Amino acid sequence: RIEALAWSRSPDAREGGLLPAIVQDADDQRVLMLGYMSREALVRTLESGSVTFYSRSKARLWTKGESSGHYLTMVSVEADCDGDTLLVQARPKGPTCHLGRESCFADAPSATLAGLDAVIAQRQRERPEGSYTAKLFDGGAARMAQKVGEEGVETALAAVVGDDAALLGEAADLVYHLLVLLRSRGLGLSDLAETLRNRE
Ligand code: AMP
Ligand code: ZN
Ligand code: ZN
Ligand code: ZN
Repeated sequence: RIEALAWSRSPDAREGGLLPAIVQDADDQRVLMLGYMSREALVRTLESGSVTFYSRSKARLWTKGESSGHYLTMVSVEADCDGDTLLVQARPKGPTCHLGRESCFADAPSATLAGLDAVIAQRQRERPEGSYTAKLFDGGAARMAQKVGEEGVETALAAVVGDDAALLGEAADLVYHLLVLLRSRGLGLSDLAETLRNRE
């Protein structure tokens, strides 16, 4: 399987060829980072369960997290259609980006949504003092359902009589309360995405 990959077509011939490896969060599907793998890095990843790259700047094998402790625990590795790119599903132990952010692509719209969903899940677990989200969870499912109804009506109203800023504000309220409602049933953005995918 490893030898079937397109090492020889790699644009970087170092270490017998380097293939780009996209790392995705196995739980919420966020793109976390991109690295390059040599055969040896791929074997190390599969054998150790910790995502390991070939670092072009260090010119050696690099296990992500080796100095920060922010390891990526491998869940699966798959190749793309023509075997020249790898997709790694992983569970991050701490922030993946060395700038302290959870993803190196933290500004993508999907990252914002997934980040919000993760914060909501954390509030549900830990119920911190003074958190509006924690108060919503304490209030129960009926109150949350009511909030979603209210924000839905406000969004519809803003679409008819409001400007873009008003519509976006209400739509953001709606999405937030919807995520809280789903989370109260143990559901999240990944479940929503799966439902949407099944309709395609
Ligand atoms: P770490 O592997 O997390 O212990 O980080 C070791 C070093 O690798 C850091 O000081 C950075 O230079 C680099 N590094 C860590 N994470 C990333 C990343 N996501 N993308 C690029 N370079 C990184
Ligand atoms: Zn390809
Ligand atoms: Zn980064
Ligand atoms: Zn509102």
